[in-house]
Amino acid sequence: MISDTHLHSAFSCDSNTPPRENAESAESQNIKTIAFTEHYDCYLGGRPTDDFDGDAYFEDILALKDEFAGRVGILTGIEIGMQPPAVILEQSAKRIEGLTLDHVVGSMHYVSGLDIYDGSYFNGKDKRESYTVLLRETLECLKKYTFVDTLGHIDYSSRYAPYEDRQLRYREFPDEFDELFRFIIENGLSLEFNTKTAGRVPPDPDVWTRYKELGGELVTFASDAHKPWLVGYEFEKHTAFLKNLGYKFAFRYENRKPVAEEL
Ligand SMILES: [Zn+2]
Ligand SMILES: [Zn+2]
Repeated sequence: MISDTHLHSAFSCDSNTPPRENAESAESQNIKTIAFTEHYDCYLGGRPTDDFDGDAYFEDILALKDEFAGRVGILTGIEIGMQPPAVILEQSAKRIEGLTLDHVVGSMHYVSGLDIYDGSYFNGKDKRESYTVLLRETLECLKKYTFVDTLGHIDYSSRYAPYEDRQLRYREFPDEFDELFRFIIENGLSLEFNTKTAGRVPPDPDVWTRYKELGGELVTFASDAHKPWLVGYEFEKHTAFLKNLGYKFAFRYENRKPVAEEL
């Protein structure tokens, strides 16, 4: 099975999974490679945090890579929580400076400084307003976070928004999507297909059709697992979804370069 390019272990603040358990789960499912993209979010909950322990991470993950050589490929990575303020951008850039990472995912967990996960971002906003601002701020961040390879879970809001209809649809925000996709494509970034979100709210086929129409080719697959049994979550179902739309490849990142894998 294709690689799982984004998952978490106990090196992330919100997971207690020993990394080895993720690797064992991947091996049992015949998954080609997995990338440990641990969280790095500055100012979580409004206070400065730097809870990504780089030294321990590399020691453990590189040892695991040796241990699983020839069984499951183990890749290093980080998931940077992107926010526009310069101080957060600078801290994030500094955090990964000098690190030998395979994959850097940039994700929006906060918009306008407010948390999507706990829902505070959505307070007092209807879907049109909150999703429009989210898509615009995502583009603003991608323009600033030039060290990111992949935009993580574009549809993260679909998981946690309080609206009856939470699906992020192309036809409701065509201008915002087009601008964002054009930037991603022109700058050689990739778009992540996040199966954790897709398991809760179905992905909009129009989003993926439009990305392809504009020339988008680079797609990564992510379970975003925080538990070992969620590694590779519903990959078969969703690779079929993309194949039906005409996609032929998914990509993993090694040493910051995309590597094609047949869907
Ligand atoms: Zn995330
Ligand atoms: Zn994640």
